[in-house]
Amino acid sequence: MPNQQSKRHEERVLKITIPNPYFEQSNNVYLIKDEELALIDTGIDTDEAFDVLNKALAQAGFPIKGIKKIFITHKHPDHFGMASRIQSESGAEVYIHRDDWEDVARFTERRDEVLEKYAQTMLRWGVPKGAVDPVIELLKEGSVIARSVKAQMLADGQAVPLGRQKIIVIHTPGHTQGSVCFRYKNTLFTGDHLLPDYTPNIGATDALMSDMLKKYIQSLLKIRELDGIEVLPGHGEQISNHKALIDSIIQHHEERKRAIVKILSDGIPRSAYQIALELFGSLDSYHVMLGAGEVHAHLEDLEGRCGVRRLGNNYIAA
Ligand SMILES: [Zn+2]
Ligand SMILES: [Zn+2]
Repeated sequence: MPNQQSKRHEERVLKITIPNPYFEQSNNVYLIKDEELALIDTGIDTDEAFDVLNKALAQAGFPIKGIKKIFITHKHPDHFGMASRIQSESGAEVYIHRDDWEDVARFTERRDEVLEKYAQTMLRWGVPKGAVDPVIELLKEGSVIARSVKAQMLADGQAVPLGRQKIIVIHTPGHTQGSVCFRYKNTLFTGDHLLPDYTPNIGATDALMSDMLKKYIQSLLKIRELDGIEVLPGHGEQISNHKALIDSIIQHHEERKRAIVKILSDGIPRSAYQIALELFGSLDSYHVMLGAGEVHAHLEDLEGRCGVRRLGNNYIAA
């Protein structure tokens, strides 16, 4: 149980859990109860999710029409999906980092093109076509949980006024290129950058970007420097010791790199997907993309070190 001290935010921040039967089971939406009302993330764009949000806000005495600003931590559909619907109810301004802006502002229009690029990327990671197609189908089906929204672009360090307070943007690329944490007073909203129960996927969740693991570790260190903050993630419960959590995530990625080098040390070239199969066992459905992308991100980071070299789409350690 979090103690009194670790729940100081509760007078000014309300957590609403939005069901998500597609991915992760549920998303956290946070209402900031300041002079102006703001939401951090929105959950998915289904009637059920909207109903849950609407009721929770009304019950707390804040009708959805009163929302003035919506801050999106990153471009994943479960985090911004409902923004357009809330915007049309309330006229709220929507904000997202500029690196994730296009995939949100033009989500619907660009979806087919983006998924085609994902398919090409998975083939380069060595995923067989027969395993790529079901992932793309699944992502196509999942596209119904979000729609394009008119949004403004944010930059690192920007301070967006909220009444007499401010929301500070801290750019933390890694999980996606435009991932940010938002700071409001001593509360830090981390989206998927920092999660309490598992390490976020790096590599597959913004599959067209490069060097994501390196960027992610740097972004973790940026947050590690912050003292006296309460950390509220995009899924699950409040994070009580973010520095220890960050240390364990960095350790986890170091161990994974060692495991990959060990697999490659027999001198046989392998694709990211082949390594993923050896690391994780069989992969099905969406995990094909997550597993291969995660290994790819580690290989990018390893290339040129520990004897790891790239041969076309394969890697070798010798
Ligand atoms: Zn995400
Ligand atoms: Zn998420």
